[in-house]
Amino acid sequence: MLHNKKCLIFTLTAAAFAATSTFPAHSAVVASIKPLGFIAAAIADGITPVEVLLPDGASEHDYALRPSDVKRIKNADLVVWTGPEMEAFLTKSAAELPANKNLEIAALPGIKPLLISGDDEDEEHEHGHDHGSENSEVQDGSHAQHHHGQFNMHLWMSPDMALQSAVAIHGKLLELMPQSKAKLDANLQEFKAELADADKHIGAQLAPVRNKGYFVFHDAYSYFEKHYGLSPLGHFTVNPEIQPGAQRLHQIRTQLVEQKAVCVFAEPQFRPAVIDAVSRGTSVRKGTLDPLGMDISLSKDSYVKFLSQLSSQYASCLNGA
Ligand SMILES: [Zn+2]
Repeated sequence: MLHNKKCLIFTLTAAAFAATSTFPAHSAVVASIKPLGFIAAAIADGITPVEVLLPDGASEHDYALRPSDVKRIKNADLVVWTGPEMEAFLTKSAAELPANKNLEIAALPGIKPLLISGDDEDEEHEHGHDHGSENSEVQDGSHAQHHHGQFNMHLWMSPDMALQSAVAIHGKLLELMPQSKAKLDANLQEFKAELADADKHIGAQLAPVRNKGYFVFHDAYSYFEKHYGLSPLGHFTVNPEIQPGAQRLHQIRTQLVEQKAVCVFAEPQFRPAVIDAVSRGTSVRKGTLDPLGMDISLSKDSYVKFLSQLSSQYASCLNGA
C-alpha cells in the first residue's frame, strides 16, 4: 500500500540521481543532510571540501544510499550525521567507520540534555502503524523507513545545538588535521560570532509575531520555535511521507475556522493538497518553510543564511506582509 508506493518512488528517484551524478573518490567531510553540511562548511572552509549525501528534494526521514554514497562515506575524512533515529539509512555504513571519522551529533554529551520529546501519538493510531509492520519493511536492509523516535531529531534547527555541532566538527578535524589548527580555530571563532549576530537579528525579527498561532506541515521546527518563543498550534504530520490522518485534519480545520491560526506552512518539497483542502474558505494565509535549506549552497556563511531564511519565512507569513 502506502509503503510499497513509497519504495517505488524512492527507487526511481535514486536511479535518476545515480544516472546524473558522478563523484570523485577524494576525501572530504561528508554530511548526511544540507544543514549539517552548512555547519561543516563553516568549520572546514579553506581546509577540506564538504559534500552532502541527501540530494535536494529527498526527505531526511526516508532515503536509501546509492552505491556511490557508500563509496563517498568510506573515503570520507569525516562523516557528520544526526544519528540512527533520524537517518536509519546511514546506520550500517557509519558503524563501519573508525570512531575518529564518525561524528553522530545526537550522541554528543552536550546535546542529550537539550533534546525535546517527539510527538508521535496520533499518527500511529490513524495509520494503524505498528512496529511489527515496520520490521517487515526493513528486510532489504538498505531501505530506511520512517522512524518514530523518542526525541525530536531535527537538531539542526537549534542555534544552540548548531554551535555544539560546530565545536564537535572542529574537534574532530583538529584530530585529523592538526596542521590546520590556526585556520580551524579561526573558522570556529568566525562561526560563533556570525551565529551570535544572526541570533540577535532573528530574535528581533520574530519578536512581533511571537504570539501568532500557526500550523506547520511536519514536526521539524520545535527547536527553532522554542528558541525564539514562537507559538505553533501543531503540525499536519511527523513525517512528510505520511499523509495526515482524518482526525488530525479535522482538528486543524476546526482551529482554522475559529481563526486561531493566521498561517499554515507548507514546505518546498511538499505542497500537499491537504493544506489547501483544510484551509479552504478560511482567511488563513499560506506560507512555506524550508527545513533543509534546499536553495542555499554550501559556503562558510550558509548556516546563518539558512536560519535567517527560515526566520524571514515565518515573519513574512505571520506578519501578513
Ligand atoms: Zn523531518
